[in-house]
Amino acid sequence: MTKKLFISTHGCQMNVYDSDRMAELLRPLGYRPAAAPDDADMVILNTCHIREKASEKVFSELGRLRATRREREAAGNGGMIIAVAGCVAQAEGEEILRRAPYVDMVFGPQAYHQLPEMVARASRGAGATLNTDFPTEPKFDTLPARAADSAVSAFLTVQEGCDKFCSFCVVPYTRGAEYSRPVAAILEEARQLLAGGARELTLLGQNVNAYHGEGPDGRPVTLGRLIRLLAEAPGLERLRYTTSHPLEMTDDLISAHGEVPALMPYLHLPVQSGSDRILAAMNRRHSADDYRRIVDKLRAARSDLALSSDFIVGFPGETAADFEDTMTLVGEIGYAQAYSFKYSPRPGTPAAAGEMIEEPVKDERLQRLQVLLNGQQADFNAGFAGRVLPVLLERDGRQTGQLVGRSPYMQSVFVEAPRHRIGRVAEVRIEAGFGRSLKGVLVTPDAAAA
Ligand code: SAM
Ligand code: SF4
Repeated sequence: MTKKLFISTHGCQMNVYDSDRMAELLRPLGYRPAAAPDDADMVILNTCHIREKASEKVFSELGRLRATRREREAAGNGGMIIAVAGCVAQAEGEEILRRAPYVDMVFGPQAYHQLPEMVARASRGAGATLNTDFPTEPKFDTLPARAADSAVSAFLTVQEGCDKFCSFCVVPYTRGAEYSRPVAAILEEARQLLAGGARELTLLGQNVNAYHGEGPDGRPVTLGRLIRLLAEAPGLERLRYTTSHPLEMTDDLISAHGEVPALMPYLHLPVQSGSDRILAAMNRRHSADDYRRIVDKLRAARSDLALSSDFIVGFPGETAADFEDTMTLVGEIGYAQAYSFKYSPRPGTPAAAGEMIEEPVKDERLQRLQVLLNGQQADFNAGFAGRVLPVLLERDGRQTGQLVGRSPYMQSVFVEAPRHRIGRVAEVRIEAGFGRSLKGVLVTPDAAAA
């Protein structure tokens, strides 16, 4: 019997990947995608714990779901299984069941392969399930094959967890210790995704460049080597990877940027702060100059590399001078785009015990940094006007007849093009670059013969 599943995904790309895998796991049980929660027999909230705001959202969303379930029951449309997955589930499992006892299942990122058993239990009305263990069997070994229809640009998790313990971050506690999948399993999943229509693969890991999975000869393989192996996969056009830590930016990985044509010239390499004092307090284990040297090496390997970063402002103890060091670093590096956040104290992390910066000061710093970063992004995009770029067309755009794709530099590109060109790389003449996207025209508009 067909049942409907709605997954609400928050947070990072790894959660997007996990949500896809959960949907695939539930398919054999008859679950198909629902357009909205009120049409669903089961709703999974795949949550993010990285900042307080993201965490608190869970409880308001749960309140709304409880009301939706009551409405469904009152209308005679059957019940609804409510599940909480992801990092909030891992960190606050018991608290969720205390504050929202109507939730049927709470499970962490390392336990979702056990979903079929948990669903069977919930369907029997056997009481709420709390599953926040880190089971010993590797989750990936028990997941089914990838669905036959892939997105043009697909995620592929190659590494999970983190051993870095940056003093502000919950990831090592919610995702557990670093684990790298074996090369053979990754190559097989890549093959399935490409057979399903994917043309671009983004290799995912909380700390993806720490990848050291087992190779065919039993010896560890680096991310640089894995990229070289994947680049040979039939049907693959483009490769990307995220998120990297500066400490693991090895020469072998840097040289891949110059040597592997499929590896796109875009890198998200978070620095968090430009102040050595703050970097030390964050336990990042590198200096601002180390970061500058890594960027120099990367740009020597690939001169057009577009860079992105994450920044935290108002970290405990951050002085005006520390913040100016961040502004200086940003001015020197020049980012194609970046994410910036106000520090958010997370329970159980060492930085949460530090000297807090007042909210208005954080606001002012964030605003200044974002003005600088947004200006760099707008300038970067504007610089493409008149140039021709290869754009991988991914899906329908906002307007009829329009498609949206990505440039090699990760910019969204809007272009009028027929739908049959989705999944192909098209040459696009860029007419204008905006704050967050580019607009262009096909160089060869009539693709009928292509
Ligand atoms: N592993 C990646 C790295 O090392 O950069 C990032 C992982 S985290 C999911 C994404 C970003 O969230 C971080 O780079 C950091 O900028 C931000 N972040 C993490 N903890 C935070 C906190 N407590 N407050 C504000 N931002 C935070
Ligand atoms: Fe968190 Fe990234 Fe630091 Fe790991 S390396 S603790 S995921 S910020």
